[in-house]
Amino acid sequence: KKIVIVGGVAGGATAAARLRRIDETSTIVMFEKGEYISFANCGLPYYIGETIKDRQKLLVQTVEGMSKKFNLDIRNLSEVIEINRETKHITVKNVQTLETYEESYDELILSPGARPIVPPIPGLNEAKAIFTLRNIPDTDRIKSYVDVQQPKRAVVVGGGFIGLEMAENLHDRGIEVTIVEMANQVMAPLDYEMAAIIHNHLEDKGVQLILEDGVKSFENAGSKVVTQSGKEIETDLIILSIGVRPENELAVNAGLNVGERGGIQVNDYLQTNDPHIYAIGDVIEVKDYINEQPTMIPLAWPANRQGRIVADNIYGKEVKYNGTLGTSIAKVFDYTVSTTGNNEKTLKRLGIPYEVVHIHPGSHAGYYPGAAPIALKLVFDKDTGKIYGAQAVGMDGVDKRIDVIATAIKGNLTVLDLPDLELAYAPPYSSAKDPVNMAGYAAT
Ligand code: FAD
Repeated sequence: KKIVIVGGVAGGATAAARLRRIDETSTIVMFEKGEYISFANCGLPYYIGETIKDRQKLLVQTVEGMSKKFNLDIRNLSEVIEINRETKHITVKNVQTLETYEESYDELILSPGARPIVPPIPGLNEAKAIFTLRNIPDTDRIKSYVDVQQPKRAVVVGGGFIGLEMAENLHDRGIEVTIVEMANQVMAPLDYEMAAIIHNHLEDKGVQLILEDGVKSFENAGSKVVTQSGKEIETDLIILSIGVRPENELAVNAGLNVGERGGIQVNDYLQTNDPHIYAIGDVIEVKDYINEQPTMIPLAWPANRQGRIVADNIYGKEVKYNGTLGTSIAKVFDYTVSTTGNNEKTLKRLGIPYEVVHIHPGSHAGYYPGAAPIALKLVFDKDTGKIYGAQAVGMDGVDKRIDVIATAIKGNLTVLDLPDLELAYAPPYSSAKDPVNMAGYAAT
């Protein structure tokens, strides 16, 4: 078998490694248009902020290392520009020489990811120091600008994960940061009252937060950001982090089906409408694990999981991808924000009735130093006890509670089961009644 993979980072590299582990004889060719494969996307903001000091550490695998380790044919700086489904060939462009050539496939895996959205805001092209963050070259550009130009002020447009992580990391570099967000809150997976905790914290840290306001234009070569409401913010640096859109051009041009938001549509086995073409990662539309509606959830866990499953399926193991729960976590200065499943906003939009409990237990026993309250919100169905989702914000122990609840959801446990979870306890870690147990008691 000859298997060709488009995209050599999270989903693509995982699939390649798994394919080789299952079968030693197939030919596996992985194309990556950038220079680097399998780099740590999620670590990029922390390298700019200098928490991660060694750039090498971001490069999880090199082309040479991975080719050798897994006996793969990896071609970086090679962009796949066309798929010919009839002849089962792709066209590849060497991005340095611009030469093109064809390559055949028996099975094709698309994992081209999603790119940052760059809306046509007036003044954007004239702005000198405006950046998006996706890959190593973007990171190098931002880091070297910060190192060399030593900007004093930055505007981060968009208060999602990447925006907030960049706000913190730029702040760590001594830069005064303003976040401009169109919605009435940051971190969309949180409901408003949970996000409000983060709003206060950002302000405590000296980050200026402008909500319910979008960018109208960039003036004076990007040294001034003007908002819809007429606010003017002087700045030395702009980060655009308003979301991503799937890199679906190859698929669309090849006649593969895409959904409303452009995500490639796949079946439970991650197959597109062409049975020899699979798609995984940020580029696909997934089924929401809770409400079963099609959605886009560009996160690393789904990309990795799908990369493994797609390899299994190509070798006939028939493993289903069960949908995406959207479990996520981010560090926002001293706080951890984490969510799993559906929030109230989503359930309301879909007309699904729900019940909510809010609790504020300590992260561990109050008499042992370092305990901090966790704001924990559980969203569930009152009649069946089905857990729809949970959100937690706090300085300690947030990750563990959300992970336990995410596991409970996948195990089909209900709120009635939560008090019965026998969780690890000693004073430095928890209480004899863990916050997850308490959420269960509160809900029943
Ligand atoms: P990618 O990993 O983006 O890989 C796609 C690759 O395909 C790219 O390198 C691209 O150059 C290449 N490509 C595209 N088109 C072609 C073509 N035609 N030919 C050849 N190559 C092509 N997720 C989390 O869960 N937690 C986090 O903390 C987190 N932090 C993040 C921080 C940042 C700054 C970024 C950018 C992302 C972060 N993510 C995080 C998201 C996570 O990185 C993605 O969900 C994941 O990388 C998606 O994997 P993918 O394989 O779909 O796409």
